[in-house]
Amino acid sequence: MNHPLAGWKDKILFTPGPLTTSRTVKQAMLRDLGSRDFEFIATVRAIRERLVALAGAKPGEYEAIPLQGSGTYAVEAVLTSTVPHDGKVLVVINGAYGQRMVRICAVAGVACCSIEFSEDTVPDLHRVEQTLSGDPAITHLAIVHCETTTGIMNPIRQAGELAHRYGKRYFVDAMSSFGAVPIDAPACEIDYLVSSANKCIEGVPGFGFVIARRKSLLETEGCARSLSLDLLNQWRGLEANGQFRFTPPTHALLAFHQALAELEAEGGVTGRAARYAANHRALIEGMRAMGFEEYLAPELQGPIITSFRYPKHPNFTFEEFYRRLNERDYVIYPGKVSNADCFRIGHIGRIFEADIRALLAAIRETMADMGIELPLGK
Ligand SMILES: *Cc1c(COP(=O)(O)O)cnc(C)c1O
Repeated sequence: MNHPLAGWKDKILFTPGPLTTSRTVKQAMLRDLGSRDFEFIATVRAIRERLVALAGAKPGEYEAIPLQGSGTYAVEAVLTSTVPHDGKVLVVINGAYGQRMVRICAVAGVACCSIEFSEDTVPDLHRVEQTLSGDPAITHLAIVHCETTTGIMNPIRQAGELAHRYGKRYFVDAMSSFGAVPIDAPACEIDYLVSSANKCIEGVPGFGFVIARRKSLLETEGCARSLSLDLLNQWRGLEANGQFRFTPPTHALLAFHQALAELEAEGGVTGRAARYAANHRALIEGMRAMGFEEYLAPELQGPIITSFRYPKHPNFTFEEFYRRLNERDYVIYPGKVSNADCFRIGHIGRIFEADIRALLAAIRETMADMGIELPLGK
């Protein structure tokens, strides 16, 4: 048995997270820094400043607040510590991550209502507007930017205009898009934007972050239903002495600092978007040539992850397809759509067109091994 790190040759992750990261990002973690270390505190400050700039905001206008845990913890922090006890959230749903926001509210006892659309359609904002105008108890509007369930892109700017027009606080789960799709938080009227270390910024997992409009954040005194997920408190701690309130994920933060430098070196969000778009193009061209069909209409599909329908062939099972690709060192992802059998292939993380082409070759071999002739019959 080889050591798992022998030659640093890991399987390539074509998933929505955890994602493949660069060797230099992983190497940045080979340190042990104390939570009060001056270098560490300066690193956290630099990360926070950089995140505000990445959201298209000016210092002082927005605040970046890193929070221990995975991305969901940061979503939960916004929903459970920024909504007043007499407030109410309207969640726009067209996939599993919108559903999750509703569950978070239900568990925490945050008043919530939702408006649900099918997973293969963009939310109809006229219906959202009707709901907003019909229920004055609603104080917050929440939406997912890239619904990673399918890879669809939701209209966050237009939804933000609505929230602004009706005087609601506006929350965007930009987990899987931030860093790879340009987002101008002030122009979109965003009060709270959430993402995490191990999506398009290509750090390692370990924390999420909230980019909050300062003015809105300052109004949330007394809103928290939880101590560890209290966003205002987490921010106050960081502002007071540069430290996290509880043990920080020091290694993940060092890796993230390096990941931000690599994002910059790639040409920022524009450069990264171009690489992911090239990955996406190569993938769908190759998959279509084999006869696979995408779940979404092309004009709704974003550059992050693509859902493909199961081929209609008696020999095809996802379990076997997955296992055989995995044996070849390519990791894909099951589907999450409720009304169709799909699997997903992510095009984000430290992967390049050459990796996509290698995956396509492995899929061709796998289909042959499964006795499925290509191209797939219609
Ligand atoms: C990945 C993802 C999450 C959840 O993040 P975790 O790190 O798994 O908790 C939430 N929302 C969206 C849109 C995502 O893509």
